[in-house]
Amino acid sequence: MTYKPQRRLGMKALLIHEELSAKTAAGRAVRELAEVLEGRQVEVILAQSALDAIAIIHSDPMVQCVLLDWDLNLDDSHEIAMSVLDAVRERSEAVPIFLLADRSSAATIALDAMQKSDDFIWLLEDTSVFIGGRIIAAIQRYRDEVLPPMFGALVRFSQVYEYSWHTPGHTGGTAFLKSTVGRAFFDFFGENLFRSDLSISVGELGSLLDHSGPIGASEVYAARVFGAHRTYHVTNGSSTSNRVILMASVTRGQVTLCDRNCHKSVEHAMTMSGAIPTYLLPLRNHYGLIGPIPPQHLTVEAIRESIVNNPLVSEGIDPTPMHAIVTNSTYDGLCYNVSRVEELLGASVDRLHFDEAWFGYARFNPIYRERFAMHGEPADHGPNRPTVFATQSTHKLLAALSQASMIHIRDGRRPIDHARFNESFMMHASTSPNYAIIASNDVSAAMMDGPAARP
Ligand SMILES: *Cc1c(COP(=O)(O)O)cnc(C)c1O
Repeated sequence: MTYKPQRRLGMKALLIHEELSAKTAAGRAVRELAEVLEGRQVEVILAQSALDAIAIIHSDPMVQCVLLDWDLNLDDSHEIAMSVLDAVRERSEAVPIFLLADRSSAATIALDAMQKSDDFIWLLEDTSVFIGGRIIAAIQRYRDEVLPPMFGALVRFSQVYEYSWHTPGHTGGTAFLKSTVGRAFFDFFGENLFRSDLSISVGELGSLLDHSGPIGASEVYAARVFGAHRTYHVTNGSSTSNRVILMASVTRGQVTLCDRNCHKSVEHAMTMSGAIPTYLLPLRNHYGLIGPIPPQHLTVEAIRESIVNNPLVSEGIDPTPMHAIVTNSTYDGLCYNVSRVEELLGASVDRLHFDEAWFGYARFNPIYRERFAMHGEPADHGPNRPTVFATQSTHKLLAALSQASMIHIRDGRRPIDHARFNESFMMHASTSPNYAIIASNDVSAAMMDGPAARP
């Protein structure tokens, strides 16, 4: 069996040229270029037509460089080459594209083609070694750029091959190698899982509790992708995210409005914080579908009445609601017009908390516009709007590992500053967070960043 190091992402280039097998000067030059690249560990996929190239672009996300002959099919070369460029750019704005041309045909290259590509290759004028070097440099720049902050740092750290002197005690997986069952476990999951299982004493990766280093950078990145003022990575599920928010926002004896159709973690959070729940009853139709809470139950008068009628709100308790939690979308997939909820419920309460455990994808499809907590742009969310929280289980409807969750925050009225919020975060977070889960949050954000995530 040959040993294949699994740590390296393979380099891969797509080369599209009509004369690949022709006995012409251009044909010889492209074949030589492909050979040079293969000799330098770049896998070259050859395509002789634009249609074939487009099929490859759609099916192989590991293509990290596209080399496109500008003279494909002389009759309508422009349109055909453009269709390839469009297919690449629909998937990625960053993947490097080189146009293969000679200096005489370069003058015919249209402006829109130049805008969609990065550079030229003068196939017959430069040596294949030089061209190959430029291609590899472009692939490496792309690879450095494409990995999001925390996962990128984790990959780079794993390439330094440091011994592990920190927890977890399996020390990079070596503990498993000494027993049969341990070895079976190690082989099943693969070395990288164990090599990247780090502790907060590894300074290079930063700290989840301090939100520093690459982990902090990843939270800033996720905030940009999901439209928050700030975002927190949580490695114990949205169950914990809900508890962090509640414990930061309300204390003993304060009235909290709560969707009766809430997750049990919200009940636990209210029990721990000592909040007094006043429930908002959602509809249930004859199919058994739950939600939404009808707008007439969200008006100032309706809220005041439900608090007055709440037997838990006894003498001496301030009836002002401090926090409101709404499940969006519901388990049955019903979502709210959040702008409208902000207007209605925001007239009674300064802090709105949307449990969006099943709704992390909403920002990336225009049909959900206005229907999720972080709708619109964060810069437009000013101090006279309510402060808005969202909890999202990135492991549910985005691609992350189990227990990965995010808290997104937009500051508005009665904001909770980071230092205070983080006290609650640290109370609920483990001091040994799982780095693979954090990396999966980072990657789930990166997968939604850019054109490939748009419908
Ligand atoms: C699943 C769920 C949660 C809890 O999320 P975990 O990531 O499983 O901890 C919270 N709220 C709602 C509405 C959920 O469906």
